[in-house]
Amino acid sequence: MTTTRHVLITPGDGIGPEVMAEVKKIIAWINDENLSHLQVTECPIGGASIDAHGVPVTDETIELGKKADCVLLGAVGGPKWNDVDYAIRPEAGLLKIRKELGLFANLRPAIVFDALIAASTLKPEIVRGLDIMIVRELTGGVYFGEPRGIFNMPNGERQGVNTQTYTTSEIHRVARVAFDLARKRNNKVCSCEKANVMESGKLWREEVTKLHVDYADVELTHMYADNCAMQLLRNPHQFDVIVTDNLFGDILSDEASMLTGSLGMLPSASLGERDKSGHQNALYEPVHGSAPDIAGQNKANPLAAILSFAMALRFSLDLPALADHIDAAARNVLDKGLRTADIMAEGCTLLSTSEMGDAIINELKTQVKKAA
Ligand code: NAD
Repeated sequence: MTTTRHVLITPGDGIGPEVMAEVKKIIAWINDENLSHLQVTECPIGGASIDAHGVPVTDETIELGKKADCVLLGAVGGPKWNDVDYAIRPEAGLLKIRKELGLFANLRPAIVFDALIAASTLKPEIVRGLDIMIVRELTGGVYFGEPRGIFNMPNGERQGVNTQTYTTSEIHRVARVAFDLARKRNNKVCSCEKANVMESGKLWREEVTKLHVDYADVELTHMYADNCAMQLLRNPHQFDVIVTDNLFGDILSDEASMLTGSLGMLPSASLGERDKSGHQNALYEPVHGSAPDIAGQNKANPLAAILSFAMALRFSLDLPALADHIDAAARNVLDKGLRTADIMAEGCTLLSTSEMGDAIINELKTQVKKAA
């Protein structure tokens, strides 16, 4: 008997609904082919939720997100809501659902597809075949630490304060995610901090080293975050999984993603703690935003959203073979020279958003037939 898995789709704004329409097509195909049974619920988020409910995310959506096996999000925001009060801006909806679901680990793969190698600003020999996973701590560190604020000092100056704090349990849970991932990849973790100048970094290094006892089969290295920023450009192939804090992860994951050169291709996952029953809150979303400049034109690249769905199949829905098929389908479509406008190159065929979704499904049909 096929297990029913529950997926909450929050398409959001701008190109969000357009790219998620292609994900929904793939889900419908999976169900039609009886490859699994994915039950989809859909809720607005961001500007769409402000329009429908007056808030960027409702409590009901958050509860559905907690119950679902995973949440698939499009993108939020757009000029229509620019003048809305900061606390109920579309982006606040995204922050709230991440917080309420306790999503402490953000996974951002940086994969260079051979067919898109020219899109990178780095030399092909540096980035060819690149496959790095950055694990960023998402709910602690300097973005959340107290005290914070802008204070008036007795001498009349103003002082801006943010506080970097990490506890052992915060470090252990994100490091565990990195070690577990490495075991399914090339078995290497590089942990990045600034232990040379920050106590929180020193603790980070000590605790990751302690935890490594449970993962002796995984190779662990430590690197100062500034050196990591340099090494990502000099010799990115040395990395498999990088684990780091919220601030350094913000910067290093953006840097790593640009090795690939194309915003429309970048997926991401955010994971919460696994409870005793085995359930883990998880949210998958493309890295890009709602792209208001091309919204409604059937021009957006749906591959980042589709590859995010592949990550959901792998990490939350226990369907890794289907995830592999989607990754291979994306690679084959690009190898055939099929492109949306953002990754268009000479001699290639220009596809719309929906045509790209159809091309992926055609490839999936071939893949699944081959595997049968
Ligand atoms: P953006 O990522 O939406 O767009 C940047 C540029 O990349 C634009 O030129 C856009 O056309 C292009 N682009 C992005 N995704 C693409 C795709 N899939 N296919 C083809 N081209 C693509 O960033 P922005 O313009 O800075 O922000 C626009 C809105 O999105 C803002 O309201 C911002 O707050 C929001 N935003 C949301 C998220 C999110 O939902 N996670 C992330 C970033 C920005």
